[in-house]
Amino acid sequence: MGIKVCKFGGTSMADGNIIRSVAKIVNSDEARRYVVVSAPGKRFSGDIKVTDLLYECSDEAATGMKRSEVFSKIRTRFLSIEKEIGMDIGLEAMLDEIEWNIVSGAGKDYCASRGEYLSGRIMAAVLGIPFVDAADVIQFKADGSLDESTYSLMASVLKKYPKAVIPGFYGKGVDGKIKTFSRGGSDITGAIVARAVKASLYENWTDVSGFFACDPKIVPSAKCIKELSYQELRELSYMGANVLHSDSIFPVKAAGIPIRIRNTFRPQDEGTLIVDSDVRNPEGNVVTGIAGKKDFTVILLEKSMMNAEVGFAANVLKVLCHHGISFEHLPSGIDTMSVVIENKYLEEVSLDDILQEIRDAVHPDYIHTRESVALVATVGHGMAESVGTSGRLFKALSDAEINVIMIDQGSSELNIIVGVDNEDCAACIRAIYREFFG
Ligand code: ADP
Ligand code: ASP
Ligand code: MG
Repeated sequence: MGIKVCKFGGTSMADGNIIRSVAKIVNSDEARRYVVVSAPGKRFSGDIKVTDLLYECSDEAATGMKRSEVFSKIRTRFLSIEKEIGMDIGLEAMLDEIEWNIVSGAGKDYCASRGEYLSGRIMAAVLGIPFVDAADVIQFKADGSLDESTYSLMASVLKKYPKAVIPGFYGKGVDGKIKTFSRGGSDITGAIVARAVKASLYENWTDVSGFFACDPKIVPSAKCIKELSYQELRELSYMGANVLHSDSIFPVKAAGIPIRIRNTFRPQDEGTLIVDSDVRNPEGNVVTGIAGKKDFTVILLEKSMMNAEVGFAANVLKVLCHHGISFEHLPSGIDTMSVVIENKYLEEVSLDDILQEIRDAVHPDYIHTRESVALVATVGHGMAESVGTSGRLFKALSDAEINVIMIDQGSSELNIIVGVDNEDCAACIRAIYREFFG
């Protein structure tokens, strides 16, 4: 029998009752041997995720506060979970130690990781199986990327345990301190565990019944995709379909392990299967899905004979590189070029400074910027073999009176990306959805 690794997200760990349902799911299948958990998420709209509270705590601690008010909310949250599951697992003492470490300067990543740590402790107690600390089995390199030795280390540790709970989201850095993945990173932990134990399936349990053709918060009737490829998943999740972290495909893709997205609140639903494929999905749709992400800036450059100027693009990119900015897209014409960057980079350096440096480097005839741009990606292997897809897409946008600021199409014809005003993002997704899914 193959091994299944199951990752349960924040909503699946939100309170004691849900945690009991999670235990039922795990215990209903002997193949579900390794369980990865997130920190408790929102219980209702307006609630605050434990991880968000922990980041607030670390900000407080950085100002030198010796007693954290925010931490008392976290304490209350965990103690009520302990009460709801009806077990004494010694959370009070663990919370005391964590609070002490936070106010003593343990740092941001340590602080952020404690939600998963405590969730893991709770889940291990409820399931009656060992807890394996992620800090002992996941190692980062000095540049912040995952150390590949993690896989053999984790395999050798987990070999000792037929079943175990591993907290998501963190590991250990080269300095011996706790280090986290980016937000939503428990999905990556799950994928790493799946690869380390050579799982036959990585089950990702969340609060929706699979991967939908677009965010169900934008189109509530969005269709659930039965099957999609790793590459389609990567494109869609990178562009905002945050049901799965976009980096979580790499460990499982390398080992050919399929992912199934499932709903903790509707375990009877089949969910979505993610597999290695480069052909149109089995349902035969031209478009597999649509996703959008806000807050980009487009820098548009024009210069006569740009096409003949050797090194023009390289010199523009050198300016970005110098500021540690990675560009998102680079659509270009004969004498025009646009560079799309995420607004988050402009918190560190001013856009005016960047524009001046670009002017000095390449002397454009015209330089113009457009801020508050959203990128919307329409993704699907089916697009490469269908004539008229882009025509349908742009007609749908023009019928919906949406102004397209920028267009980019990946060379593999797997996606068409349009830039629109932030405010048009949801309307743009709805218009494309209507066109391709009716
Ligand atoms: P978890 O806490 O389980 O990791 P997340 O909140 O990270 O859950 O991801 C699940 C959420 O992703 C859903 O509640 C949904 O609103 C959102 N989402 C965005 N795009 C999509 C999509 N295309 N399909 C399904 N869910 C999506
Ligand atoms: N708890 C972390 C976050 O909120 C990681 C995760 O849930 O995957 O980002
Ligand atoms: Mg998530």
